[in-house]
Amino acid sequence: MNTIREPAQTLPVLADADVCVIGGSCTGVFAAVRAARLGASVVLLERANAFGGVATHGLVLIWHSLRDTEFKRPIIGGLTAEVIDRLLRRDAAAINEGNSNSYCSLNTEELKIELDGLVREHRITPLLHTLGCRPLLQGDRIDAVLVENKDGRGAVRARVFVDATGDGDIAVRAGVPGRVRDGLQPPTTCAKIWRFHPEGKRFGDLYKAHHAAFGLEPDSGWDSPVPGLPDIRMVAQTHVFGANVADAAALTRAEMEGRRQIRGVIDLLRAHGDPARPPVLVQLASCIGARESRILDAAHRLTEEEVLHGIRFPDAIANGSYRVDVHAPQGGGFLFKYLDGTTLFAHNNGCEQGRWREPTPENPTFYQIPYRCLHHPSRPNLLFAGRMISADRGAFGAIRVMVNLNQTGEAAGTAAALAARGGLPVGAVDPALLRRQLADGGSIIL
Ligand SMILES: Cc1cc2nc3c(=O)[nH]c(=O)nc-3n(C[C@H](O)[C@H](O)[C@H](O)COP(=O)(O)OP(=O)(O)OC[C@H]3O[C@@H](n4cnc5c(N)ncnc54)[C@H](O)[C@@H]3O)c2cc1C
Repeated sequence: MNTIREPAQTLPVLADADVCVIGGSCTGVFAAVRAARLGASVVLLERANAFGGVATHGLVLIWHSLRDTEFKRPIIGGLTAEVIDRLLRRDAAAINEGNSNSYCSLNTEELKIELDGLVREHRITPLLHTLGCRPLLQGDRIDAVLVENKDGRGAVRARVFVDATGDGDIAVRAGVPGRVRDGLQPPTTCAKIWRFHPEGKRFGDLYKAHHAAFGLEPDSGWDSPVPGLPDIRMVAQTHVFGANVADAAALTRAEMEGRRQIRGVIDLLRAHGDPARPPVLVQLASCIGARESRILDAAHRLTEEEVLHGIRFPDAIANGSYRVDVHAPQGGGFLFKYLDGTTLFAHNNGCEQGRWREPTPENPTFYQIPYRCLHHPSRPNLLFAGRMISADRGAFGAIRVMVNLNQTGEAAGTAAALAARGGLPVGAVDPALLRRQLADGGSIIL
């Protein structure tokens, strides 16, 4: 590789805090809030202009059920429930409950403002438009994270760091082992489209018949109403197969290809939809939605087996009931595996039902994520939260949804505050104390 040497320089320390969270999706904001609620001083770095990650910049507006698989027992509370309540008070969320497709849909623009409010109310120091670039190590500890923003380059010091960058940028650069799995789930560029559903025709049928003529993949996705906007759909119909969004060149190609595919969808509808009601592109996601990139090693790797059998952990910090949902890395289709032993394979030519195990009189109704998936023994003052936490392909397919990852943020923030307060390695935080603090802060701990 062609190289150039950067001259050494002395940098300003922009902030010195108990906890520094890098990445400001709901995962990162919730980590920051939970740490602040325990009295920690907190700095929150986000490379974009607003908080929320895929939920806001990616337009992904669905938070799945907060109840178990039977939709009876509440298993998720904490900041996810708080934020839903805050949005409901503004008519900025809609709940569809009581059936097998229970979920909450969000007005993701209102969510941005709500997250600003949470950051302000908790006296967190935010740095927007600020990229966390590189950790500086002292021995095995991270002393500071180098950042770049409009002021140039600087450093943020903290006692404990939480990597909530989705891709695990900081953890990997700090030497935490991690990898990009073969066969990544593809990223998707989302958009809001007016008059997406043509009168008297099904989008799915039109897509199946005409996608190739518009340079679209043989795999369509889903679309959803937007709360308060009956004629506008949030459309997640594109797939950029084979793209690793943790690679700069691949990410660039994927962003442009995703937008090209959105235009293909619009053009397909213009050509074959209702000529009296042509579709209008209302909003493009400001970044492509990443499903999967790096997965980090940790003290424990969560397995599909543990998820599907609902294994309970003494250090459980999150509960989930969302199915194992793996999008095919090439060609399209997705496979669901449920805790009741059934499967559903959906592809462009239909759906096939099956089983991954024989029926049993009782089924687990939720699974858990242990604290051990959020840290690696080699870095005593680093936690990670979000989609990079340690999980195999199947377990990742289940835990990757936001109601689950939000809880990993809350746990990482709580553990970071406890570790900072006690001067402890994150691996030495007492799981019983962590679980108690989470429960005291409104999380459902089972
Ligand atoms: C199209 C699509 C549909 C989906 N559908 C659903 C769904 O219906 N429901 C659901 O719950 N989940 C869904 N998911 C999955 C879910 O959205 C993601 O798994 C989840 O949002 C990931 O959260 P995260 O916090 O780990 O990462 P992200 O949301 O990616 O957040 C990472 C944040 O860190 C910031 N960042 C990254 N690097 C740096 C850095 N170096 N310095 C500073 N900031 C940085 C980013 O800007 C971003 O704000 C979907 C995903 C996609 C792509």
